[in-house]
Amino acid sequence: MASSAPIALLSVYDKTGLLPFAKGLKELGFRLLGSGGTAKMIREAGMEIEDVSSITKAPEMLGGRVKTLHPAVHGGILSRDIESDLADLATNKISPITLVVCNLYPFVLQTQKPDCTLAGAIEEIDIGGVTLLRAAAKNHARVSIISSPSDYDVILSEWKENTAISDATKRGLALKAFESTKAYDEAIADYFRKMYASVDSEKDMIAGAGVGYQRLPLRYGANPHQKPAQAFVEQGEMPVKILSGSPGYINLLDALNSWALVKELAEAFNPPLPAAASFKHVSPAGAAVGIPLDEREAQVFGVADIKDSLSPLASAYARARGADRMSSFGDFIALSHPVDAITARIINREVSDGVIAPGYEPEALDILSKKKGGKYCVLQMDANYVPPDIETRQVYGISLQQRRNDCKIDETLFQNIVTSNKDLTKQAITDLTVATLALKYTQSNSVCYALNGAVIGLGAGQQSRIHCTRLAGDKADNWWLRHHPRVLALPFKKGTKRADKANAIDLFVTGQVFEADPSERAQWESLFDEVPAPLSKEERDEHMKQLTGVACASDAFFPFPDNVHRARKSGVQYLAAPGGSIMDAECIKTANNYGIVFAHTNLRLFHH
Ligand code: 5GP
Repeated sequence: MASSAPIALLSVYDKTGLLPFAKGLKELGFRLLGSGGTAKMIREAGMEIEDVSSITKAPEMLGGRVKTLHPAVHGGILSRDIESDLADLATNKISPITLVVCNLYPFVLQTQKPDCTLAGAIEEIDIGGVTLLRAAAKNHARVSIISSPSDYDVILSEWKENTAISDATKRGLALKAFESTKAYDEAIADYFRKMYASVDSEKDMIAGAGVGYQRLPLRYGANPHQKPAQAFVEQGEMPVKILSGSPGYINLLDALNSWALVKELAEAFNPPLPAAASFKHVSPAGAAVGIPLDEREAQVFGVADIKDSLSPLASAYARARGADRMSSFGDFIALSHPVDAITARIINREVSDGVIAPGYEPEALDILSKKKGGKYCVLQMDANYVPPDIETRQVYGISLQQRRNDCKIDETLFQNIVTSNKDLTKQAITDLTVATLALKYTQSNSVCYALNGAVIGLGAGQQSRIHCTRLAGDKADNWWLRHHPRVLALPFKKGTKRADKANAIDLFVTGQVFEADPSERAQWESLFDEVPAPLSKEERDEHMKQLTGVACASDAFFPFPDNVHRARKSGVQYLAAPGGSIMDAECIKTANNYGIVFAHTNLRLFHH
C-alpha cells in the first residue's frame, strides 16, 4: 500500500453512529477500509472508503461467510512493531492496521425469533468478526479495537488531541472486546446446549450421548412462573443424571448442596461412614451418619418395624429424617453410598420430593422410580466429580465470584480447646463434625445441635445468633421430648398417616394443642382412640434432665454468652465455634461454669 495514512478497518453489523464516526476518522486523516455492507453505507454517504477486497485481492464469498478472513487483514492487525514482523509485512506487501471497528451478527436476536430455524441460527454465527475482535484485542499494545458505538466519540477526541490512542484506553477496549466475544460464544454454546445436549426426549439423549450431557432441563425456576430454567456445566460432562422424574430449580439446589454435605460427611471419618441428609429449602432439616439405632430410636424415627434389617445407610437416613420430621416433609434426600433396597423402602413410605446418590441397587431403583406414580425425582451423582475451585453466580445481572468453600472438616478442627474441661470424647468429636458439616451447607446464620452422629436441632437463616441458638435448641428439645415414653405410647387410631402423626406429636410435645382453638384441638383429638393428657411440667422437666452429652456448633463466633446459657438448657456438653468476639472471654467463662468443653475452630462457615 502506497499511502502512509493510518488505516481504520470497519466491519459492523450494528451501524448506529457509523457515518459520523467514519466522517470523524476521515477528517483526522484515516484511510478507511470496509467490509461489504459497511463500505457501501459509508460510500453512499459520499465518503471515500476502500473495500476489504482491495487489499485481500479476493472477493467476499460464500454469501458473506468469508469477508475479512485473510492474511492481508490479519497480518495487518496482528503485526507488532518488531523487525521480523515488519519484514514479514514488507515481503507480503501488507500495511499495518491501526484501528479495528467491529460488532457482530445478532445471533441472540435471531434465536429469539419464534420462527428461528437451526439453519437460520447457524447463519447468524459471526466468524470473521470474532476473529477481527480477538486479533485486534490480542495486539492491543499497538491496535485499538472498537467494539461498541458508545466508544466512537472517545476515540475521535483522543486521536484529535494526541494523534494516538492511549495505552489505558487500548487496554479498556481490548477487555471490552474479549468480554463481547465471550458473551457471544456463551450465547452460541447455550443455544446448542439446548439443541443438542438435552435429555428432554429419547432423541435428544441419543444426540448428546457420545460426548456426555452438559445440560439438564429444569421444570421451572424457583417459582412456576420462572421459565425457562436449566442446569448446565460449561466444561466436561454433567455429573448429575436424571434416572426418574423431572427436577425443578430448588430440587437441584437441594440436591447439589446435600450431595456435597453427605460426601464430605462420609469422608470425614476413618473408615468412612455412610451419611444421609434430608434437605428443605436449601438447608438440612437433618443429617446423620450410619450409627445403628437402639429400640427407642427406631421407634422415634418411625422404623421400629424394620429395625433388624436396617443397613448402615438406612440407619443414617432414618436418623436424618428423624431429626425434624415435620421440616423433612417433602424433603430432598442425599445419600453418600449406593442406595440399597431397605433404604429405598424407608424413603418410599415418606413424603419426599427426590433423592441424589452415587448409585442404586436394581431393586432400590425399581422402588424409587415407581414412587409418586413415577414422578419421584431420582438423581445419580458422579461420586468422583470435583467442582472447579472458583464458583460464579449472578445476582440481579451482576456476576459474583469466589473460591469455593473447600475447607475440610474433620476431627483436627476441634483441637484448640479453650475451656478448663478438655475431655472431648470420640462420640463428641463425631457429633461436632456432623454439626459443623451441616452448618457448612446451611443458610446463615446457623447453629446446630447433634447427638449420636445426627443433627437433632438446626436453626437456619436467622439474622441474630441467639435466635439461631434458641431455634435450634427448641428443635432439639422437641426432638428429645419425642423420645418421652408417653409420646411413644400415644394411642393413635389405626391407619393414621405418618405425616399426620408427626404433626400431632409436634402439637403434643410443644403443648400448643392444649391452648389451641377448640376446632384445631378437636381435629387433633380425633386422631386418637383415647385423648392423651398433656405432659405436665414435672414430666417435661424430669425428661429434659436426661438430655445430656449434646454437641453444638455455630457457623460464626458467639457474640454474647447468652448463647452458651441457651445451649446448656438443651443438654449441651460440647461446643465448637470460631473465636474472635470481644466477648470470647465471657463465653468461655460461662462454658467453664457449666463444665462444658469448648473448642475454638478458627473457621467461619457462612453459606448463602
Ligand atoms: P457488512 O455489513 O459490512 O457486510 O458486514 C459486517 C459484519 O460482518 C460484522 O458484523 C462483522 O462482524 C462480520 N464479518 C466480518 N468479516 C467476516 C467474515 O469473514 N465472515 C463472517 N461470517 N462475518 C464477518
